[in-house]
Amino acid sequence: MTSTVQAAARTGAPAPPPPARGPHAETVARALLGVIAAGAGAVLWLWWQDTASIVGAAQWVTNGGRLFGLLAGYTAPVLVLLMARIPLLDRTLGSDRLARWHATGGRYMVGLVLTHVLLIVWGYSLTDRTGLVHQTTELVFHYPDLLKGTIGTLLLFTVGAVSARAARRRMRYETWYHLHLLTYLAIFLTFFHQLSNGAEFVRDPSARALWYGLYLGTGALILWFRFLVPVRDMYRHRLRVAEVRTEAPGVVSVFVIGDYLDELAARTRSGQFFRWRFLTPGLGWSANPYSLSAPPGGGYLRITVKEQGGHSGALARLRPGTRVLAEGPYGAFTADRRRSPKVLLLAGGVGITPLRALFETIPAAPGGLTLVYRASSAEDLVFGAELESIAAARGARLRFLLGPRSEVGEPLQARALLALLPDLREHDVYLCGPEGLVRTAREALDTAGVPARRIHHESFEL
Ligand SMILES: Cc1cc2nc3c(=O)[nH]c(=O)nc-3n(C[C@H](O)[C@H](O)[C@H](O)COP(=O)(O)OP(=O)(O)OC[C@H]3O[C@@H](n4cnc5c(N)ncnc54)[C@H](O)[C@@H]3O)c2cc1C
Repeated sequence: MTSTVQAAARTGAPAPPPPARGPHAETVARALLGVIAAGAGAVLWLWWQDTASIVGAAQWVTNGGRLFGLLAGYTAPVLVLLMARIPLLDRTLGSDRLARWHATGGRYMVGLVLTHVLLIVWGYSLTDRTGLVHQTTELVFHYPDLLKGTIGTLLLFTVGAVSARAARRRMRYETWYHLHLLTYLAIFLTFFHQLSNGAEFVRDPSARALWYGLYLGTGALILWFRFLVPVRDMYRHRLRVAEVRTEAPGVVSVFVIGDYLDELAARTRSGQFFRWRFLTPGLGWSANPYSLSAPPGGGYLRITVKEQGGHSGALARLRPGTRVLAEGPYGAFTADRRRSPKVLLLAGGVGITPLRALFETIPAAPGGLTLVYRASSAEDLVFGAELESIAAARGARLRFLLGPRSEVGEPLQARALLALLPDLREHDVYLCGPEGLVRTAREALDTAGVPARRIHHESFEL
């Protein structure tokens, strides 16, 4: 299988045309945060206009509990929406940023729910002059939908606990992921007590309609983007493995073919990734993210994977003809992010994959594009010949930084990068590699004066 630029290099044909610039990520981020804040403001208004004068400690505590409950009820669908894989958000902000917001918001939400529960129990016990334990039993077993709500809340706390960094590190990714799906059940179970006990919803039918709209709209978007679109794509493209090729020790490329791939290519950009589910025993249960390591459009899709564990290690044993379900494309690590004419692509290890695809297609004049690729030995380099062929075709610079750190020191220093590119601060930098390398490179780029907004990073950890 030959990539388009390798073909172009041989025929002398021009590189693919520059893609259109998408909306600026920071503009979308600000707009989204503005919408979320406005929604929170509307929730405060809902509480305010339904709250008459507050007299005495019991009312203050109970009303505080109501407010925290409303905010938690609003946060739940917002957090789900962030992970709904809505293309506009995913392709401008990037899945990694959305996942970070989701995780941070999740921590806030656990705090909101906990405060809500404590204040409501305390406030009701002050009003009824009963003990906290008695009041808790009373609420859980005698208020409408509160038993369901309590089970949902306990599920939510369980998901929060297993998502804490320390707990998550000790768990297999798939175990954590499947436990995390319980959040949907938790949200469903807690939904009804909000409507049957929340004073603003009991009294105001338009508030009820708004709440239903928020939750049902979120459910519809999840159903569409996370389930129906992938199933539609599965039947349309009928993807299957064509070939598995060894690239380096522990690194293989998987070539995938299918029907109407030109349609898929038209909505996919170099630098993006899919979640790949290989329908073969042992692999069908997990959908792992891998970036395209060649631009889409050559009649096949190619991923290149380094063995890290069960899923990545099993790909070397895939057989031609294995059916594939590819969910995507996702991610914002594309040419749309770049803002200046000069580009530096900085890769470490298997982080070369999205950069290999970008190296071929990101618009740049001859001399305006550089790829620096750090690997611990020549044996570990992948795509060496391909990269050289692309560099020659595009008039691009290519530097391999080889050797273990114990022997060559730290090659990603500001001084070394400036020696290679004296005008480094005029570049957009695309960075992908192991976390340690990314940290070192960021420090070097910062020292060299590259503004943070020009550094674009794809993390291989979601
Ligand atoms: C956007 C993105 C693009 C990626 N592109 C590539 C690529 O082109 N080539 C490549 O070799 N690797 C890539 N990775 C990393 C790759 O997804 C993981 O190494 C692989 O999924 C590990 O799974 P495992 O079962 O082999 O190992 P495990 O030992 O099970 O997992 C190792 C670590 O990988 C992560 N991981 C595992 N499963 C998933 C999952 N389903 N979703 C998200 N993270 C998971 C977890 O952090 C886990 O701790 C990419 C990751 C992301 C997030």
